[in-house]
Amino acid sequence: MTTETRKPLQVMVDLNRCQGYAQCCFLAPEVFELHGQEALWYDPAPEPAQRDRVRAAAAACPVQAIRVASPHATSRRNGAGPDA
Ligand code: SF4
Repeated sequence: MTTETRKPLQVMVDLNRCQGYAQCCFLAPEVFELHGQEALWYDPAPEPAQRDRVRAAAAACPVQAIRVASPHATSRRNGAGPDA
């Protein structure tokens, strides 16, 4: 057992990149949900119990629109956004 499994998650989806393929919705339905054919709803701070599902969803996203982080793990990278 590690303490990492208890850390909260931070989820961000680049909605400009998202194409509504819904892979994430199938893999983590408690975190991602499509409304209509284009509007993706997601929980930006899902429970740690969703960690594996959220990571699977991020890996399966065809356009790599999903970013997953643990707040404590990213504190040393403050200000260094992805692909900024
Ligand atoms: S899998 Fe990726 S492209 Fe598809 S709905 Fe989810 S975030 Fe959007």
